[in-house]
Amino acid sequence: MKLVLDTHTHTIASGHAYNTLNEMVRAAAEKGLQLLAVTEHGPAMPGSCQEIYFHNLRAISRVKYGVKLLLGCEMNIMDLEGRVDLALPALEEIDIGIASMHIPCVASGSVKENTRAYQRVMENPYVNIIGHPDDSRYPVDYRQLVQEAKKQGVLLELNNSSLKPNGFRQDTRKNDMEMLRYCMEYQVPVVVGSDAHVEEDVGNFTLAQEVLEAVGFPEELVANTSVDKLMGYLR
Ligand SMILES: [Zn+2]
Ligand SMILES: [Zn+2]
Repeated sequence: MKLVLDTHTHTIASGHAYNTLNEMVRAAAEKGLQLLAVTEHGPAMPGSCQEIYFHNLRAISRVKYGVKLLLGCEMNIMDLEGRVDLALPALEEIDIGIASMHIPCVASGSVKENTRAYQRVMENPYVNIIGHPDDSRYPVDYRQLVQEAKKQGVLLELNNSSLKPNGFRQDTRKNDMEMLRYCMEYQVPVVVGSDAHVEEDVGNFTLAQEVLEAVGFPEELVANTSVDKLMGYLR
């Protein structure tokens, strides 16, 4: 399966990533990617950029080094009601929105509460992707999550960085496999994101591809195989 785009990366603007925007896009071009999304952490992540950063995204050209560029935000889910840390008018300036749970920003609830939080987040029209719902530190009901993603037209992410052996998130391979099996059962698409915090990781999908193969996941349900396909999923 050839994946031609990466929907989840960070630059120095996120505060704990280490390359510039130009370096990340150049890496994408060198690796032959057709599209790169740069999705800086929302303002509630310690050290990340403030709201004004997102408000001025129109200053940046959407094609660089021949790569189509989407500029967005990985919003922090702030509570179990599904509130996020980016508001209008900044939200109107982003091309793509990911919403994720992160340890510095939200405490886990029960399986039922976390699943409901994701459900509420998906009702936000600026959220296109649920980032790394693969972490046993935030347990969820995968059947319900997948059914809700289908209903709301939101993509669930298969996060390559989560699968690294030195990663922070827990039981990610097992959780991803469970999520992917429900996606196959209910015909729900997923998107693969590198979650690169350094240029070497742009378009690195090695571990995610291994999991897709292990469950026999069908290519037609992977949003990364063409730019048009991805754009069709972004509301
Ligand atoms: Zn994240
Ligand atoms: Zn990220």
